[in-house]
Amino acid sequence: MERIAYLDIDGVVANTGQAVIDLVRKEFKKPWVRVEDIKEYEIPKLPWLTEEEVERLLIRFGDPEFYYYIQPMPEAAAATALWYKKGWQIVFVTARPPHLYEVTLYWLRKHGFVFDSLIMSPPFDKVNHCANHATCFLVEDRPDVLYHIATQRPKLKLFLYDQPWNQAIELTIATRIRSLTEIEL
Ligand SMILES: [Mg+2]
Repeated sequence: MERIAYLDIDGVVANTGQAVIDLVRKEFKKPWVRVEDIKEYEIPKLPWLTEEEVERLLIRFGDPEFYYYIQPMPEAAAATALWYKKGWQIVFVTARPPHLYEVTLYWLRKHGFVFDSLIMSPPFDKVNHCANHATCFLVEDRPDVLYHIATQRPKLKLFLYDQPWNQAIELTIATRIRSLTEIEL
């Protein structure tokens, strides 16, 4: 029976929230901003950014260089390596656009992630890459994506990676985790 771990990248194995904050502190001269202040994952909705800063930030998001320097989540590579060793397939499914494929692949290898495949997919097409099977699971930080997948893949196990931008939502369809090491296989 196939056993597949589907993993989102930003906000799950990559500390993208911290990378955004580091950029805002340094380049926009807002040293008081903290990761906890990211209450929305959609950049234009962040109240502490001006319209001009939003535009600049979105340009940076399109630049592969931004992704190169993101730090991995603690223990993420070790957790996935353990699952891999136990015979699980590791599949990364990210909503990053296709032109970021090379830097993402490089970043995963640089930080020691072992995996079977890397899929770039728009957020609401992620479901098309997930099996509807109880021996498979998905870890994601966006509740809207999890809801969408839950309706079409009811057997798939779902985990919500705890982040400041998903605190307002109480999920019954997914288990909230603070580290990949909480998933015991
Ligand atoms: Mg994410």
